Amino acid sequence: MKLNIKDTFNKELPADPIPEKGRRQVEKACFSYVTPKKTAKPELVHVSPEMLDALGISKEEAQSDAFLKVFTGNNVLPNTKPYAMCYGGHQFGNWAGQLGDGRAINLTEVEHNNKHWALQLKGAGETPYSRTADGLAVLRSSIREYLCSEAMFHLGVPTTRALSLSLSGDQVLRDVLYNGNPDYEKGAIVCRVAPSFLRFGSYEIFSSRQDVGTLKTLVDYTIKHFFSHLGAPSKETYLGFFKEVASRTLEMIVHWQRVGFVHGVMNTDNMSILGLTIDYGPYGWLEGFDYGWTPNTTDRQHKRYRYGNQPNVGLWNLYKLANALYPLIEETEALERVLDQYKVDFELKSLAMMRSKLGLETEDALDADLIQKLEDNLLLAETDMTIFFRKLSDFNNEKASEGFEIIKEAFYISTEITEEIQRKWNTWFQRYAERLLQEESNSKERKEIMNRVNPKYVLRNYMAQLAIDDADKGDYKLIDTLFQLLKNPYNEQPEHEKWFAKRPDWARHKVGCSMLSCSS
Ligand code: AMP
Ligand code: MG
Repeated sequence: MKLNIKDTFNKELPADPIPEKGRRQVEKACFSYVTPKKTAKPELVHVSPEMLDALGISKEEAQSDAFLKVFTGNNVLPNTKPYAMCYGGHQFGNWAGQLGDGRAINLTEVEHNNKHWALQLKGAGETPYSRTADGLAVLRSSIREYLCSEAMFHLGVPTTRALSLSLSGDQVLRDVLYNGNPDYEKGAIVCRVAPSFLRFGSYEIFSSRQDVGTLKTLVDYTIKHFFSHLGAPSKETYLGFFKEVASRTLEMIVHWQRVGFVHGVMNTDNMSILGLTIDYGPYGWLEGFDYGWTPNTTDRQHKRYRYGNQPNVGLWNLYKLANALYPLIEETEALERVLDQYKVDFELKSLAMMRSKLGLETEDALDADLIQKLEDNLLLAETDMTIFFRKLSDFNNEKASEGFEIIKEAFYISTEITEEIQRKWNTWFQRYAERLLQEESNSKERKEIMNRVNPKYVLRNYMAQLAIDDADKGDYKLIDTLFQLLKNPYNEQPEHEKWFAKRPDWARHKVGCSMLSCSS
């Protein structure tokens, strides 16, 4: 296996001089060198052929012992020096101080086909940033990260990627429900991949320590490698950088809203500076459309990271980033203008996104109201978001009275659907039909357009849980089935029709399906 190694992060940025993994505060450094832990019995469970291609690794090489050893941390590639990144973050609204890669270890950076990738193992052992935890990951959460990050990519949502999923062969102790009943689970390691794993918290840590020197070094590095079109470092460039991070963050979140993805832990240490979905933990997919829903049981009380609040949290996190960058920019008003613009852009982009979900290619002043009424209706009774929007593309505006019938399958509890609710839907379909008269597309064309933005298949929480249950017993077939299915989320796949279904009743209140904790 010959990778085109092009390390920049650990070559250009200041390193922690202490070469030990003991927990500590690491100052004036962007990372600490660490060696991944040797594991008892590494075993490859799955690889992403798309990521192999992206990195220039052949399928044969992926089956080799060399591949397995490198991507489970048992061998270090020649001429590389693995490291853990130092960052801080605001967790659930509070400054948490230094966090850092507690269980992620960056192996190296690779250049292939003019693209630059950082390769990182998640669950490969302790680092100076492991705090009270063990640096490991379990199979359950690794399957969730592996499947979801690739699925998000195929949905067209900016995201980190995943190259491989392996078992470590070690047992890991976890208390899934945080109720004093820990148990051993299979340890696993995902190799995840992104141009960079820098987060908002990577910058916040230096401002919080008034270390403007290292902050500037890191921002200059970031611009040089990932925002080079902004030009040479200057106050203006820094402001342009912040502006672009804000717009990428918004773009990502609007995609989340479109597909019904709820991240679950939007702490600033989990916000990528490149606007990628990062750190798949207690995330979930909306089943019933509900602004108040969050899958994360740790957030059950305040629901800070609920579906409907994600755009606001994005803005809140950008305020924290603005504060972190302030020492380099020193222009409060200019930063505030960017944040104000986020609010304006959010309205515009989410309206455009909702129009696209309805197959509207023209704009009408009353669209926002039409969409508001639709959302009001979706909240009347538990209505599956994915099924609703997919079915909606069958709507024929010449037959408005059939609308209700077309989307009926999306309701979870048919006895909840009163005559009043049905009447409200009929009213809405009537209005939608009239609105569609302004469109040039006919019903058939519209169906095609809508099916490109309304996925047929998403990684419903119970689907991942079924794959996890099988994998715990040593059966990995379902991981592969879901991986293949989710490569074409917008296509009809008749052989997979059974995955175009509402969440089964058994999954409604099941741990792993509707309730997830940060324990992973
Ligand atoms: P998260 O909420 O998963 O983004 O994690 C927050 C912080 O806790 C990060 O610094 C992680 O690296 C760290 N962390 C999470 N799980 C572990 C673990 N098992 N061992 C060490 N550090 C961890
Ligand atoms: Mg994290």
